Amino acid sequence: MRPFVYSRVATAEQAVARAAVPADTVESATRAPAQFLAGGTNVVDYFKLACWDAVELVDINDLRDEHGAIEARPDGIRFGALVGMRQAAEDPDVVRDYPVIAEALRQSASQQIRNVGTLAGNVLQRTRCGYFRDVDYDECNKRAPGSGCAAIGGPNRGHAVLGVGDRCIASYPGDLAPALVALDARVETLGPRGGRTFPLRTLHTGAERPEVETILAPGELITGFLVPAGPHTRRSTYVKVRDRESYEFGLATAAVALDLAPDGIVRDARIALGGGLTYRPWRADAAEGSLRDQPLTEETAAAAGRLALEGAVTHGDNDYLPELGARTVARALLRAARMVDVT
Ligand code: SF4
Repeated sequence: MRPFVYSRVATAEQAVARAAVPADTVESATRAPAQFLAGGTNVVDYFKLACWDAVELVDINDLRDEHGAIEARPDGIRFGALVGMRQAAEDPDVVRDYPVIAEALRQSASQQIRNVGTLAGNVLQRTRCGYFRDVDYDECNKRAPGSGCAAIGGPNRGHAVLGVGDRCIASYPGDLAPALVALDARVETLGPRGGRTFPLRTLHTGAERPEVETILAPGELITGFLVPAGPHTRRSTYVKVRDRESYEFGLATAAVALDLAPDGIVRDARIALGGGLTYRPWRADAAEGSLRDQPLTEETAAAAGRLALEGAVTHGDNDYLPELGARTVARALLRAARMVDVT
């Protein structure tokens, strides 16, 4: 482990001031020298492995009173950034009205990790690419820009097939973010220049610059998530296909929400992918469009699944993923269509 500075703050403003890069320095605008510490299930892990190069950890656990509540409102539901994973997964409003969120969280990590992990930390977790985690590998553009990518040409069974490039094919490992992206969630932040909100689907950046993973500025703190209400949220579900049924990352995951007319015709469909399939949380717009004003049948679900994986790029060991991903999407759609008691 590399040496680092530890500090603890009492307010969001103090956290931002502590972590922000002073305007008169020549620090990179994208590589923060300080990282926030909440549950610590990812950041401590990666500090130990020495694959995360921040030099200061800013402990924000004292912000839980201020940013640790779930607020169900007529126009949607708001989660404070420090809401716990278990807390959200077991919340009655979430379970009843936004089941895709509860299901995604219940299938994340282990019970012990869900007890301490926070929603913002979960959304911001970094890839589990083995070459990124193992600093003995010199080739990793995410860890060392310009060094290459050991996964391209190496064992890559769990590497992504959508949103990848020739610099990085790492998969986004989180379960919560695809569920939130499917529901058009927005992110609230506080940064050195004040507060802002933006769609969660724009938070994570693409594979062109693997070393940059989000649009957050240095010192910008996520303070909450807003999920708008809608006729689709109750008929929503999350399917995660993985090598074992507990404490395992996904090979293919799909978050789905449907608004069905009484005659079974799709009024609105939301589909987001993650797990091993995608470089970042991924909305399947074309697949959604193919379902609107159509009946939800095994055939239309299968066709939507194939559309969702259109454009997939494989690298040998992960050649199986497009087919698995398409079937995962179809399974999620059919499961959502069969949900009862959602009005
Ligand atoms: Fe690094 Fe990305 Fe290649 Fe993994 S896939 S070795 S994270 S550049």
